[in-house]
Amino acid sequence: MERTLCIIKPDGVKKNVQGHIIQMLTDAGFDIIGMKMTHLSSAQAKSFYEVHKERPFYNDLISYMTSGNVIAVALKKDNAVADYRKLIGATDPAEAEDGTIRKKFAASKQENSVHGSDSVENGKIEVGFFFAECELY
Ligand code: ADP
Ligand code: MG
Repeated sequence: MERTLCIIKPDGVKKNVQGHIIQMLTDAGFDIIGMKMTHLSSAQAKSFYEVHKERPFYNDLISYMTSGNVIAVALKKDNAVADYRKLIGATDPAEAEDGTIRKKFAASKQENSVHGSDSVENGKIEVGFFFAECELY
């Protein structure tokens, strides 16, 4: 079975919609195999989003991702990566389909409530960024 990483981003935690998001994950058939609240340091956020470091939104993204607590949720399911991307919807909530997490909760293209891994390989790597193997159940 595949693994993928959800991060409930600072806007989601500040709006207190983490319970709704977690319910949507389990209703969609994902198994939660690890979960933790943390507050990313600038160095951690920069490392996590290194792939975007040349993008114009990078500095704002780091400020936003370090502006509050986040909840990392490690998920497991058949076809987890693609199914989870479908459940969260497009990066920009204005383009996200009805019923998706971002359509329901996201405020903007930046403050879009959740992170999602973009490939099976990155799903494994990103779960490993937040969780040691012994913390996954
Ligand atoms: P996704 O999270 O859908 O995989 P990306 O990997 O392209 O999207 O971007 C990572 C994150 O950077 C987005 O979730 C969002 O928070 C932020 N972001 C992406 N594009 C923009 C943009 N044009 N303006 C502001 N923030 C952006
Ligand atoms: Mg991405």
